[in-house]
Amino acid sequence: MNSSDYYKELGISRDATQEEVKAAYRKNALQYHPDKNQGNPEATEKFKKISQAYEILGDAEKRRNYDQFGTHDPRAAGFGPSDAAGGFSSMEEALRTFMHAFGGSGGSDSVFDSFFGGGSEEVGAQQGASKKINITLSFEEAVKGTEKEASMTNYVCCSTCNGLGAASASGIKKCPACRGCGQIHQTRGFFSMSSVCHQCYGQGKTITDPCKTCHGKGRVKKKQIVPIKIPAGVDTGMRLRMSGYGDVGERGGPAGDLHIFITVNPHNVFQRDGDNIIIEFPISFVEASLGCKKEIPTPTGENVRISIPDGTQSGKILRVKGGGSPNVRGKSRGDLLVKLLIETPVRLTSDQKDLLKKFQELETERNNPLQGNFSEKVKVFFSK
Ligand SMILES: [Zn+2]
Ligand SMILES: [Zn+2]
Repeated sequence: MNSSDYYKELGISRDATQEEVKAAYRKNALQYHPDKNQGNPEATEKFKKISQAYEILGDAEKRRNYDQFGTHDPRAAGFGPSDAAGGFSSMEEALRTFMHAFGGSGGSDSVFDSFFGGGSEEVGAQQGASKKINITLSFEEAVKGTEKEASMTNYVCCSTCNGLGAASASGIKKCPACRGCGQIHQTRGFFSMSSVCHQCYGQGKTITDPCKTCHGKGRVKKKQIVPIKIPAGVDTGMRLRMSGYGDVGERGGPAGDLHIFITVNPHNVFQRDGDNIIIEFPISFVEASLGCKKEIPTPTGENVRISIPDGTQSGKILRVKGGGSPNVRGKSRGDLLVKLLIETPVRLTSDQKDLLKKFQELETERNNPLQGNFSEKVKVFFSK
């Protein structure tokens, strides 16, 4: 004996209008639809119950009978399917109710649209293919950012039919196999499976009068120049994505993306290390000894003046904060790392040699602390 309250099942009051009944059913059916609740028997049960409730309350005459007889015996009241089993005898009936209620009304209701992934025009429209290109940049272009152009042959929207694929609006018919929803629901017992309709490939419509330009595809191949903005700070191995610059899909399907693979040519002075930029900078041994000021080139083309302290050793790295590459994601700029190379003088004149010899006579261990440390380390090594 079934005594479920159909109004309660749908969560509405007894004086709800037919519109409210339908809206409540729609809301519940979308929530508990088996496609959205796979492996959830409670949801399946709920879906059957609300479908049963709608079967009665959604029909003005059946609803009047139900109201009149209260908690009812449907056979005694002479309406509706037998619910002796306490619900629909199969999920198939519940799904049929669902499809019957909404199958033909797509396109006007946003809840329904989101459930099926788009309005009736968009149902199942396949996204076009994404494309890949390689771009090689100079070191400066990568650091400063630049604009490039790529010549590409893409599928673009057919301008004759505006991507519809049909020569006229009347040349598009709702797919008879799936009734326009692009999917076929198959039911075995409690299991409901949906698959893409193979008659319309999920488009939900068939074209009876194809566009002459694109032969019903809604897109044509076209050579075009794509402007590409390269942000400052890119480096080898990075990939940029330009959304929607791939092929457009068939019959108004969204476009794929364009993926740009970046290679940066090496520079003869600068090297990248992430956002830091390294420059090896030679100074004389006298400059290293006495200290000096130097103009250091930067990748932006401007020089930066740095102080090199006296007694600077070879290989010393001085850091110019913010003198590196901009961060491609807008974080703070990298640094310029100045690696000092101390040059040993060559091709000395006899005067220079004399001066150096004189210096050598005056040199003490204090002038060469590294040498002192070194002989200490060697001593420790051999005494072990
Ligand atoms: Zn066309
Ligand atoms: Zn179909």
